[in-house]
Amino acid sequence: MYPNDRRENWFRGQGHWADVPEEKWKSWRWQLQNRITTADELEHYLELTPDERMGARFSAYKLSLAITPYFFNLIDPKDPECPIRKQVIPRGAESRTAPEELLDPVGEESTMPVDTVVHRYPDRVLFLVTDRCAAYCRYCTRSRLVSNAQDYNFHPNFEEGLRYIEEHPEIRDVLLSGGDPLLLNDVKLDYLLGRLRAIPHLEFIRIGSRIPVFLPQRITEKFCGVLRKHGPIWMSIHANHPKECTQELYEATERLALAGTPIGNQSVLLKGVNDDPEVYRSLIHRLLMMRVRPYYLYQCDLITGSAHFRTGVEKGVEIIRALRGNTSGYAIPQFVIDGPGGGGKIPINPDYVREVTDEEVVLTNYEGREFRYPRYPSPENAAVEEPAPVEYLAD
Ligand SMILES: *Cc1c(COP(=O)(O)O)cnc(C)c1O
Ligand code: SF4
Repeated sequence: MYPNDRRENWFRGQGHWADVPEEKWKSWRWQLQNRITTADELEHYLELTPDERMGARFSAYKLSLAITPYFFNLIDPKDPECPIRKQVIPRGAESRTAPEELLDPVGEESTMPVDTVVHRYPDRVLFLVTDRCAAYCRYCTRSRLVSNAQDYNFHPNFEEGLRYIEEHPEIRDVLLSGGDPLLLNDVKLDYLLGRLRAIPHLEFIRIGSRIPVFLPQRITEKFCGVLRKHGPIWMSIHANHPKECTQELYEATERLALAGTPIGNQSVLLKGVNDDPEVYRSLIHRLLMMRVRPYYLYQCDLITGSAHFRTGVEKGVEIIRALRGNTSGYAIPQFVIDGPGGGGKIPINPDYVREVTDEEVVLTNYEGREFRYPRYPSPENAAVEEPAPVEYLAD
């Protein structure tokens, strides 16, 4: 379906809003001010299905509707199954809660010592610095909190979170999250990163953001200057489908990379979006072309109203198996399930070990061929050889 990944074929430019002057289109503030946030606005640009109309009405009670004009233009208006459309346009199924679904599917609430910090792992924390995003993903794990449509009582207080991190020397890694941290302005980000950089026990600072994908215009030279000033800052972006890898995203990741930012990608396995090895392969190849390293592929969390997005667990394993050996190792992310109720990320891998005996392990390679490797070394059986002269050291 996506046979040609050459970059000149990637999306660029405008469809709707063609009359908007380029300097406005390229302004992230214009993009935010002109987001689509109501069913009526949506219908102005796109013929909604009755199911989507119902979903859009329900979004006021669950997770707000918002789509940047830039990202909206990636939707194919003729295709009701468009993978971009499914990620951001609500559907009726969001209002139905399956018995296994939860408001806090990965059990964050039990590991939040202060309102803004999730401290689940020994050495690293999530720091939730805002509850807003540039656009809203319909499967968001944190939809209880994000967009505040559910009246979640969240008022990000940086000082409290910073104090917690300062007072806990075991924390060596902070991941700024939310919501989307890049919705904060450069002055606030400069302040936050500066405060974090001043904490002597913090070794590793990273930002999780979907803004490069929803709003690549936000990656300005000025923002890149903030990253350079406090670097190294790592970033995880969030792209799920090759159509999201546009010329604009390419340029944004280039600016980030030139500012010294290593970039990873986290994607969520979504039914009808990327649950296909060929689509997924195209996504990760495009990411590598943008110097973005695929990091995690998440099984969709058990968030309320997500059954229409969730695949069987085998699907993720099938995708990883199809990739291993058939493409660059750098392109292959780790497939994980975030353990419901607070287990953290648990890796799931295809099984290449067929059998383990006392003497050896029996392995299968990516082609299904069998190989044997001794289970333990046996130095007592080694043949003794005279050491050869080390000629390569001669000059
Ligand atoms: C994902 C996550 C992290 C970071 O995990 P890594 O595997 O180091 O990327 C940290 N804290 C929480 C609560 C998380 O969900
Ligand atoms: S950008 Fe992240 S936090 Fe925001 S809606 Fe999407 S998944 Fe949720």
